[in-house]
Amino acid sequence: MRIFCDFDGTIAKVDTTDLVLTRLADPAWEALEARWTQGEITAAECMRGQVALIGGADAALDAVLDSVELADGFAEFVAWCQANAVPLTVVSDGVDRFIARILDRHGLGYLPVIANHLVGNAELGRRLEQPWSRVGCAAGSGVCKCQVATKSDERANKPDDLMVFIGDGRSDFCVSGRADLLFARDKLADYARARAMPHYEFSDFSIITTTLTAALGRSARRAAI
Ligand SMILES: [Mg+2]
Ligand SMILES: [Zn+2]
Repeated sequence: MRIFCDFDGTIAKVDTTDLVLTRLADPAWEALEARWTQGEITAAECMRGQVALIGGADAALDAVLDSVELADGFAEFVAWCQANAVPLTVVSDGVDRFIARILDRHGLGYLPVIANHLVGNAELGRRLEQPWSRVGCAAGSGVCKCQVATKSDERANKPDDLMVFIGDGRSDFCVSGRADLLFARDKLADYARARAMPHYEFSDFSIITTTLTAALGRSARRAAI
């Protein structure tokens, strides 16, 4: 089993990028958001344009980030992953520096994170690099989650090697169909429901921990036969 988990709206209770934009960016960020919603620009282009509009000193940015709380049961979920030697990777179409700051404040800064990369600062200007983008990605995201979230060893193709995905939003749509076990809320749950995709809906992480405990037990029993 290998778990990939979205960050904004899934691990973080709010969308961190939207929160930072609302507090610190030039209002032109909303026009970019509208162009993305109307399909005129990709999510990746939208994010690059918006991040360049973020003003304020790093201290002001950190103050905004320090108000972000994590979903209920997430810390216990991380402990469960560690206790069961299940790798957990955060895959986000958000900003690496924002995520690192928030996880760190909750003592979880050691979790591997795949996200867009922030460079620069208030004085030099901020810019977003997208090392995880992929030409042809259906989601048009800065981070192509379908490319990143794979089984631990696809070549071995072990039937019990489950890929678990947890998410809530549009950047999770493309990868959701590839997950062996999908946990969804909000827009992603609507998407899965509309396509009759098997999925579990969740409001906090305790239900995920319980469901995965049972799944791990089943695959251990199968392996023992
Ligand atoms: Mg999200
Ligand atoms: Zn993709």
